[in-house]
Amino acid sequence: MKKKVTILGSTGSVGVSTLEIINAHKEKFEIIGLSINKNYEKLIKQVKKFNPKVVAIKDEVAYKNFKKNYVNKDLTILSGKECLKSILDFEVDFVMAGIVGSAGLIPVLEAAKKGLIIGLANKESLVCSGSILTKVIRDNKATLLPIDSEHNAIFQVLDKKNKHEIDKIILTASGGPFIGKNREELKDISPNQAINHPNWRMGKKISVDSATLMNKGLEVIEAYYLFEFPVNKIDVLIHPQSIIHSCVEYSDGSLLAQMGTPDMKTPIAYALGYPDRISAPIKKLSLDIIQKLTFYQPDHKTFPLLNLAIEAIKIKKNAPTVLNAANEVAVDAFLKNRISFLSISKIVDLTLNKARICTINNVEEILQEDKDARRLASSFVTSAMN
Ligand code: MG
Repeated sequence: MKKKVTILGSTGSVGVSTLEIINAHKEKFEIIGLSINKNYEKLIKQVKKFNPKVVAIKDEVAYKNFKKNYVNKDLTILSGKECLKSILDFEVDFVMAGIVGSAGLIPVLEAAKKGLIIGLANKESLVCSGSILTKVIRDNKATLLPIDSEHNAIFQVLDKKNKHEIDKIILTASGGPFIGKNREELKDISPNQAINHPNWRMGKKISVDSATLMNKGLEVIEAYYLFEFPVNKIDVLIHPQSIIHSCVEYSDGSLLAQMGTPDMKTPIAYALGYPDRISAPIKKLSLDIIQKLTFYQPDHKTFPLLNLAIEAIKIKKNAPTVLNAANEVAVDAFLKNRISFLSISKIVDLTLNKARICTINNVEEILQEDKDARRLASSFVTSAMN
């Protein structure tokens, strides 16, 4: 029996890597659905190659262009507000959640309600709604497999039966392209410099998050929810080579780490094959060529977003939702050259301080908090531009 797969965000970097692995294992997988935001031309190529039953196109113009340029009466083409929910009405075993940002929240929740296996590359959905999402997963016996390389590493070495013997989780961070620099040196950083990550090929938003260390802050929150582990036992260590993807330290002194070439295809293949292992088309790690692995404590003065994120998860309530929304708005403004690199952390800080902290009980409230925080962050973006 082939595993039936739907990919949310099929033209993004995780989506493309997922299709590459599936292409190498055609006997094991069948593509049921593909969803995109705008890139309809790339979607047409993917549809011709993988022959899905359904596609969902979020952007209305892209939807019209797709229909104009590709005719196939056997293909269901969805668009509109509910399309990311409706695509999951087609029977599937595995959903790859590769959409960036809080836009991924609703389809991830929908997949959880259906009790599916979810490859979670969308860390923002867990950051925004961790307690609600983990409950829906538990109640519906869904399975969450982390795609984020650090969390995938922890998942591989975490001994669930002996969780009480774990002293700490160590999340490694490459440090991004600006490691070793001070704030003065980061004043005039351009979007192109910020997205030029030294080790990982990723989308623009996550590359900027990597450069500000916000990505690691979001990952601390992600680890807290995924592994139900206290925040004060989750450490962050800068490891510029990105070879050790994270470690778990046990009370007997054992430090178990997962290592590999920095390539998202490894965690994606792990999740697709789970509980079995399948091969991934990647360059294997040669330790004799790497020779040296180095580690440093993070520089919180230059990169304040990591601590802000840790502060937000300690507050809990709506704080992580606000933090994430403010960051998405600020990063978007930076990528559009509207604000400076250093303004990103200032805007997140201001938004988190000014927002009303309150408890959240359901998805509707999360979406409202996300919207309110975006509005507030946008007002700080406008001030930062003047
Ligand atoms: Mg990561």
